Amino acid sequence: MYCPFCGSGINPETTFCSSCGKNITFLRDVQKPSTSQAKAVRNTFPDH
Ligand SMILES: [Zn+2]
Repeated sequence: MYCPFCGSGINPETTFCSSCGKNITFLRDVQKPSTSQAKAVRNTFPDH
């Protein structure tokens, strides 16, 4: 992955960019998979 501030290649497991020192933890939050909604689907079949 690349730092959005300076564009340097950074380790995705790190907390701060080793080049500019910016906090890049928010990048990992964006990459979280949003598959939790699939389990929230209700059964829409009528009971009667
Ligand atoms: Zn940087």
